[in-house]
Amino acid sequence: MDQDQKILVVGSANTDMVIGVDKFPLPGQTLLGNNFLLNAGGKGANQAVAAARLGGHVAIIARLGNDLFGNQTIENFKKEGLNVDGVVLDNKLPSGVAQIVVDKSGENTIVVAGGANLALNTKQINKNADLINASEVVLLQLEIPLGSVLYVAKKATSLGKKVILNPAPARKLSNELYANIYAITPNETETRYLTGIKITGEESAQHAADFFHNKGVRVVIITLGAAGAFLSTPDFSGTLATTEVEAVDSTAAGDTFNGALASALSKGMGWVDAVSFANKAAALSVTKHGAQASIPFLKDIQG
Ligand code: ATP
Repeated sequence: MDQDQKILVVGSANTDMVIGVDKFPLPGQTLLGNNFLLNAGGKGANQAVAAARLGGHVAIIARLGNDLFGNQTIENFKKEGLNVDGVVLDNKLPSGVAQIVVDKSGENTIVVAGGANLALNTKQINKNADLINASEVVLLQLEIPLGSVLYVAKKATSLGKKVILNPAPARKLSNELYANIYAITPNETETRYLTGIKITGEESAQHAADFFHNKGVRVVIITLGAAGAFLSTPDFSGTLATTEVEAVDSTAAGDTFNGALASALSKGMGWVDAVSFANKAAALSVTKHGAQASIPFLKDIQG
């Protein structure tokens, strides 16, 4: 066990199977693809890896199948320096997978089979209560059962931990969940889905932030792609710009942002500095292809 562990991620881990095609297949059609890539993915795994690469001491609670992909994923977690005490290999369900087809213009279609991720239950969380106790920051997403997300949020909040929810992919959330999270980090699409407000500038961003504040969320961070992120706390409200970069692939920009944010907070940074750090890390990630392959290390940011 990592005595210095300060961050806990409870979330999904998938294996992404990516095939390049000239044109998408029609229903019933078989096509020959161009290339094939097998990538580690899933929002929980990506965010945990980002937090660790960016200097955090991270544990992950995740559920994998007891299969080729599951065993490969655990090895990858260990290689990234994650504490894997809370990872379970499910003997009945397969590991989560995503089948991704990308055409020549970069457009993609994605089908996800959640597999064991969907069985990450409260029993597994209870068994790993010491990981919640040990952490300062708990980072959650929405690719595992909502009941489990709520369970972790309530337990962690009652222990005074800072719970950050990245509400992706967007799902309707209960008032009880909002009341048990410290910070929320939606992108513009998720913000619109959750609040009904389209972000067109700072005024609308503040309206959307107020929607979350009224539900009890203290810190709201709306990520704005190349425009950076809007931060609203009891002491600060405004847009924090990101670095201007030549973007080649935005996959995992959001995951890098959230992992970096958790790492910065675990080191005692204030919200403005932590969001600026997350902006920098996420901007670097869009200059490279891939999901985990594009997540930078601390030295890339400091260099
Ligand atoms: P994705 O789904 O592509 O992983 P997202 O939609 O969850 O990302 P965004 O708001 O698009 O989230 O991006 C997250 C963060 O990544 C932004 O707040 C910003 O810091 C950084 N970012 C994204 N796109 C760019 C870009 N083109 N240039 C610089 N930084 C970027």
